[in-house]
Amino acid sequence: MNEADSVRMHALLGDEGMLACKCPEEADVILVNGCTVRDKARHKAISAIGGYAALRRDRGAMRPVIGLGGCVGQLEKDAVFKRIPELDFVFGTDTIDQLPLLVKNALAGLRRQVMTDFDADPAYSTMTRISGVPGVRAYVNIMKGCNKHCSFCIVPQTRGPEKSRSMDEIIGDVASLVSRGVREVTLLGQNVNSYGRPGKNENFPGLLRAIDADPRCLLLKRIRFTSSHPWDFSEELIGCYAPPARGGVSRLAWHLHLPVQSGSDRILSLMGRDHEISDYVRKMDLLRGINPEVGVSTDLIVGFPGETEQDFRATEALLDRVGFDSIFAFAYSQRPGTRAAGMNDDVPQSGKLRRLGLLLARQEAISSQRYATRIGREMEILVEGCAKNSGLAAARGLRAAVWSGRTTCNRVVNFMSGAGTEDLKDRFVLVSITGATGLSLQGEMIRVTS
Ligand code: SF4
Repeated sequence: MNEADSVRMHALLGDEGMLACKCPEEADVILVNGCTVRDKARHKAISAIGGYAALRRDRGAMRPVIGLGGCVGQLEKDAVFKRIPELDFVFGTDTIDQLPLLVKNALAGLRRQVMTDFDADPAYSTMTRISGVPGVRAYVNIMKGCNKHCSFCIVPQTRGPEKSRSMDEIIGDVASLVSRGVREVTLLGQNVNSYGRPGKNENFPGLLRAIDADPRCLLLKRIRFTSSHPWDFSEELIGCYAPPARGGVSRLAWHLHLPVQSGSDRILSLMGRDHEISDYVRKMDLLRGINPEVGVSTDLIVGFPGETEQDFRATEALLDRVGFDSIFAFAYSQRPGTRAAGMNDDVPQSGKLRRLGLLLARQEAISSQRYATRIGREMEILVEGCAKNSGLAAARGLRAAVWSGRTTCNRVVNFMSGAGTEDLKDRFVLVSITGATGLSLQGEMIRVTS
């Protein structure tokens, strides 16, 4: 979400004639779009501002203006001026479109502006803004805010209550991006599965089907979405994952990220998650029954207040039972302002890290097994760029280029193209899978498909 917000900020300021520069030393305007999902991220944003404040002092009359936005701006409001008096303005998650005005005022010398009110309009209407040529992948906000109350989460306070855009507006937005060359959209929201305006006959599966059927979206190849809550992950949505010949949504990527957070119902209850493990597992079984090719990933927190060894073992058992393709696991840390911050953080840090290590090792073994089943297959990849680890070719004494991309089921594939081939970034290519680890697949390119 923050990444999409940054893209929007870039486009809004681009419309005012501003250009991105390579380093803060060259900048006239410095913006920090801060995340608060964990307290560490919030501290990072604040200390980054502190660093830029020092730069501001050093540059004397040529000093840049500095703004703080995102969830950190939304939460901090004017309190942050006490800590960082050099800061010029603070804006929130609902006031991004006011950024050109804030910057203009700050450049004219107006200090300590604060714009962090939530939009009082119950309707949510917007257009995706991307400056220049958008590339082949783009984010599209379909809803914002969250009506859930997970005890560890600050998001309902930083993003406000749920509001959904109209279906027509979203489809028009996607169609416009497709006409500009976008081939993969990620539909965004805090809980996209609960998409739909009150009193309207709208829901998320309906939106997916409407995008899929719109003739203006014919060239779109993949629809992804994030994030989801298990409570709202309906059987109707599971049906969208069926192969197209069996009534599925043809452009829906075969990947699902469904955060479960813990394998213990007792801990889920303390987390205020409103779902139970038996229901989560039932839905995963249904999904795999409809389409076993769908890649599934999840989020997990270990060491939540009150988590016993027995609770942790239930989480380990869940990994074995579901067989996730990948997990994003974290050791619990208190987030001030949440209900969980008032609970007794009774699992020692060493215990949290031990559990985290055990969980990650267990998952790596599961991922390795699941990934190995792909060896020998041909898979279509959307290339994201050069592989981080380009040792694949070198290890074989080859001088071919090594690229990295993702399958429809969101598996990372590092693959070799022939020496001297064209730039493959943002292209779809067919790859023969030749190897697998617990983190990625390896392969060799067969041909460019589009
Ligand atoms: S559903 Fe997600 S965004 Fe909403 S409160 Fe829970 S963790 Fe936070």
